[in-house]
Amino acid sequence: MGFEKAERLRRLPPYLFQEIDRLKAELVAKGVDVINLGVGDPDLPTPRHIIEALQRTAEDPANHQYPSYSGMNDFKGSVARWYKSRFGVHLDADREVLTLIGSKEGIAHLPLACINPGDVALVPSPAYPVYDIATMFAGGESHMMPLLAENGFLPDLDAIPPETARKARVMFINYPNNPTGAIAEKDFYERVVQFARQYDVMICHDAAYTEMGFDGYRPMSFLEVPGAKEVGIEFHSLSKTYNMTGWRLGFAVGNADVIGALGQVKSNIDSGAFNAIQWAGITALESDQGCIADNQRIYQERRDVLVEGLRSAGLSPASPRATFYVWCPTPGGYTSKELTSLLLREAGIVTTPGSGFGEPGEGYVRLALTVSKERIQEAVERIRKLSF
Ligand SMILES: *Cc1c(COP(=O)(O)O)cnc(C)c1O
Repeated sequence: MGFEKAERLRRLPPYLFQEIDRLKAELVAKGVDVINLGVGDPDLPTPRHIIEALQRTAEDPANHQYPSYSGMNDFKGSVARWYKSRFGVHLDADREVLTLIGSKEGIAHLPLACINPGDVALVPSPAYPVYDIATMFAGGESHMMPLLAENGFLPDLDAIPPETARKARVMFINYPNNPTGAIAEKDFYERVVQFARQYDVMICHDAAYTEMGFDGYRPMSFLEVPGAKEVGIEFHSLSKTYNMTGWRLGFAVGNADVIGALGQVKSNIDSGAFNAIQWAGITALESDQGCIADNQRIYQERRDVLVEGLRSAGLSPASPRATFYVWCPTPGGYTSKELTSLLLREAGIVTTPGSGFGEPGEGYVRLALTVSKERIQEAVERIRKLSF
């Protein structure tokens, strides 16, 4: 059979991490002690009380059948209560909450709900790759909004040509931001709501990192801004908040029409999240939130070791106020990929080249705070020896 991949797969960008993965495997085979600061996946375990809730509820045969597509009412009710207590945002659990198998699932399905072939999506760059690729899979065209240091890594809404804005159906934003570690304040979200109204564009805010703020900083929800619920939705996930990336549990909240359309896509493509995992999710959202503060303390300590260490090695990263990413400018004219390869080859440290998240990420590497303080200290000592 002469199998030919569909055009949408052939249009995918080349797999950037291939070269890094190959080099890393080579070094590991040679016995090098590789420190992996490449992946945004918490190394800390899921809190005990959440695991125990899964253990209990997995025993119940009532949880073994197909779950509801849109999620258990109990879980959606918990999400609504959590939004009320955490952000002061009122949600109708029935119409304004949708349970997801991780937020990536919902983000990837969203363009199928709102984009017709040829429609435009406004997509930040550098960014989590799913916004752009899901748009392409739905037959849409991404208009890139560069995130630049001089704008605090926020998109410049005034730089979007009005004729493009009029053609746009959806705008993706993500704060606290992966990969830059940048944050957004209320005035930015207010401008986004105004833009959405002016051009009739739906807003899709990816809020995966709101529970990873440092130094007492508590990131806000997009939905806290007046009018936000009329123009958009927000994605959330238990993945980073409760160290649950492997469990696959997230949710979308906000505009009832959009939530309904996303639910329609979902019910035709996949099924609901395992009920026992939703019960564990209820335990996560309804229990004492001390585990979040514990996480924040650990990541903040790691951040300080890494940022101070990189600075002492002649680099100049900003210290992120949220997320577990340090976004570090490359020194001395290195490209992102050159610095990533150098760090891997000469220091056994895996990082991610900023250019892999989109062209405006060139000139940066991303380091994830997903190893212990001691291992970060070791990474810093190796980087110091490279004398930048
Ligand atoms: C990790 C991450 C998510 C969460 O993905 P899940 O599918 O919920 O595990 C979403 N958006 C961004 C930007 C992320 O970095």
